[in-house]
Amino acid sequence: MYIAPPKRSTDMSNRSNLMPEAVQGFTNVKPVSFEDTSIAFSSQSDFKLRKTYWLFALMNKGWVVKLGTFFIKIALRLHLPIKLLIKNTIFDQFCGGESIRDCEKTIRNLHDVHVGTILDYSVEGEDTEKSFDETTLEILRTIERASESKDIPFSVFKVTGIASMELLEAIQIGDSLNKEQKAEFDRVMHRVDTLCRRAYERNVRIFVDAEESWIQDTIDTLAYEMMDRYNHERPVVYNTYQMYRWESFSHLQRDTAEAHAKGYYLGVKLVRGAYLEKERLRAHEEEYQDPIQATKEDTDRDFNMAIEFCLEHRDIISMCLGTHNEESCEYCVDHMKEFGIAPDDSHIYFAQLLGMSDNISYNLANAGYNVAKYVPYGPVDTVMPYLFRRADENKSIAGQSSREFTLVSDELKRRKTCRSK
Ligand SMILES: Cc1cc2nc3c(=O)[nH]c(=O)nc-3n(C[C@H](O)[C@H](O)[C@H](O)COP(=O)(O)OP(=O)(O)OC[C@H]3O[C@@H](n4cnc5c(N)ncnc54)[C@H](O)[C@@H]3O)c2cc1C
Repeated sequence: MYIAPPKRSTDMSNRSNLMPEAVQGFTNVKPVSFEDTSIAFSSQSDFKLRKTYWLFALMNKGWVVKLGTFFIKIALRLHLPIKLLIKNTIFDQFCGGESIRDCEKTIRNLHDVHVGTILDYSVEGEDTEKSFDETTLEILRTIERASESKDIPFSVFKVTGIASMELLEAIQIGDSLNKEQKAEFDRVMHRVDTLCRRAYERNVRIFVDAEESWIQDTIDTLAYEMMDRYNHERPVVYNTYQMYRWESFSHLQRDTAEAHAKGYYLGVKLVRGAYLEKERLRAHEEEYQDPIQATKEDTDRDFNMAIEFCLEHRDIISMCLGTHNEESCEYCVDHMKEFGIAPDDSHIYFAQLLGMSDNISYNLANAGYNVAKYVPYGPVDTVMPYLFRRADENKSIAGQSSREFTLVSDELKRRKTCRSK
């Protein structure tokens, strides 16, 4: 039987308040407007902007995305020569390149507008011990690169990039592991520890991305073990909270209390969550309680509650807001002002994906807030699942143009008007 997620009250009055802080006024803060497309696209030449326009115009059409995805998958399988086309279009928009070296130009461009880079090695679907070891080595390279400059404030990894999904799930459901599986999990723990230890040694902060609910408990356990090892002096390891899960807010409260009791800093990346349809479908098919909130409004409410909670507990929590939602960013900016927190407080970051929501990233950075972009990279065919998700996200919904398409169109119109004056 399918069980719907529970409804929760919006009453926040009985939330735990572990360490309230004195609130001071903060006056000299620049206002932020996410509508300013001149700042958002300041680094794009007319040619580049027109190219971006055509790309988003195509992605805006649902049928183009569907057909394009279908044909690209077939063409790649048949080894047809379409890589150059992909590289010059969608890959160029959303990825930094195929290697760290390729990303250097993007790192510099973002630096020029005071936006940091988070090198995200985005290879997906590789599932062998050899590929897990290679991915670990590549992430170590991103940590080394991050340690060389302030332009790269965080590193990041996905546990499924270095461990098999089946193993993570078997551990989550409490299966008894055979000798081989135990050795496999020892290797996973070793890889995770190698990454977090190197981040600690190089003074680089590292995100652990959140994934599907049926492996997330295992990921959480690994992340908190790492925080207990490396977050006692400063926040190094950050775990990700998906606020589309109705349990996440109470987990955040629970984990804050635990971090406090054990004396380590809690690193928190707040997101809404990327696997909604997959989660709902599986819960329905396998007849367990849907882990996702009943409505988008419930997700938004918990996202805001989590922002406020993290800001209130900033003496122990360091937070990064991974979102393209303008209202959430505004909510955070307003509460930072209210709590007297400086825009460039090193414990508060905003992050968006490369090629998306530049109106948020560039305008926040221009007003002095800490901002970074995930810059995905990797061989073209292995980052395709990531690119398909971006294309899907940017198609029009209910006849409305996608936000990105509207913003680029507005900026082109603005430039035309300026020239004709
Ligand atoms: C820097 C960065 C890092 C990220 N890291 C991760 C990560 O580690 N793990 C991960 O899972 N995702 C991650 N994401 C993706 C993120 O979870 C969202 O999918 C994406 O950002 C869209 O959400 P939003 O807050 O930007 O915007 P919005 O457009 O306001 O929200 C869309 C989101 O709302 C939620 N939602 C939509 N409809 C409903 C509904 N009916 N009921 C309940 N909830 C609903 C879904 O989560 C959906 O993705 C990351 C995003 C960014 C920008």
